[in-house]
Amino acid sequence: MEKRDYYDVLGVSKNASDAEIKAAFRKLAKQYHPDINKSPEAPEKFKEAQEAYSVLSDENKRKQYDQYGHAAFEGMGAGGAGGFDFSGFDFGDIFGDLFGGSSFFGGGRSQNRARKGADSIMRVNLTFDEAIYGCKKDIKVNTMDTCDKCGGKGGFDESVCSTCHGSGSVTAEQRTLFGAFMTKTTCPTCHGKGKTFKTTCSECHGEGKVKVNKTLEVKVPAGVATGNQLRLSGKGEAGSNGGPNGDIYLEFVVEEHPLFVRDDNDIYLTLPLTITEAVLGCKKEIPTLYGNVKLTIPEGSSTGDKHRLKGKGAPDANYGRKGDMYVVLKVIIPDKLSKEQKRLFESLSETDLESGNEFKKIREYLK
Ligand SMILES: [Zn+2]
Ligand SMILES: [Zn+2]
Repeated sequence: MEKRDYYDVLGVSKNASDAEIKAAFRKLAKQYHPDINKSPEAPEKFKEAQEAYSVLSDENKRKQYDQYGHAAFEGMGAGGAGGFDFSGFDFGDIFGDLFGGSSFFGGGRSQNRARKGADSIMRVNLTFDEAIYGCKKDIKVNTMDTCDKCGGKGGFDESVCSTCHGSGSVTAEQRTLFGAFMTKTTCPTCHGKGKTFKTTCSECHGEGKVKVNKTLEVKVPAGVATGNQLRLSGKGEAGSNGGPNGDIYLEFVVEEHPLFVRDDNDIYLTLPLTITEAVLGCKKEIPTLYGNVKLTIPEGSSTGDKHRLKGKGAPDANYGRKGDMYVVLKVIIPDKLSKEQKRLFESLSETDLESGNEFKKIREYLK
């Protein structure tokens, strides 16, 4: 794409005054700053305006540009052909009142921009019942809160940093094969804050935040499972420069139950049956999450047969709707028999029990 004329980019005439150029750029910056304007072309437009302004606001660069056009800056900076390095350029005064005094261009990223506190994640162990029915838990958290003593500032008797004059960054000349250009780095005196204190806060040692141990009472919703996360919005680390607090995520680890096995929101129970219960059928009392119920086992039941108890599963932690319960039969073959039982089985074995299709199939094959 053909590079647009810098004066056209800013929409000013060739003999525009410095004030006019600055005003034009401010207008474009407000319109296209990516923090404000979320349209896809905004970053490109913003960059273009930024580049034009960095040249036309500098007396020397403007002169060079007027004389040679874009050719004046070709091969300059890290951007290569067509690229332009404005890391040495301070936009701080332009954005001073626009973005709370921060300058965040180039390498010298300023520290005084409002930032959200860090999020953190914590494992929380729950018993099976606590997870199914929900519970209130006291959760001990270690986090960073705003320091009460200094109100989060980090010190007292604030003054503008004399090294960087409040911008939070310093420029240094860097020499390369392509010539010298300016790079920006974080101010070593104020570490990018742009201000210094006569006395550093003794409580937080200048950090503005202090470690705290606090106990949060958390309502765990019914139905959570291992791996589920609950967000405690705004309970994490304090933000910086008026930014919001981070969040704490609780990740649950649920103990196994001696009988019930959970799969998604369904609950499985293995029900042992004696051989006669399976053959003759029976009524069995079984435990569920919601009290005991009587289940009718029909005659001729086998291991693996499933009975569904609708709505007796675990509640969904988000929607509350309950899953189902499955009772899976397991016929237990006795491994020790009394004399009497053995006699009964022997007389039973003299009758024909091979009535199923399975027996027929193998008989056919043997012929
Ligand atoms: Zn400084
Ligand atoms: Zn403090």
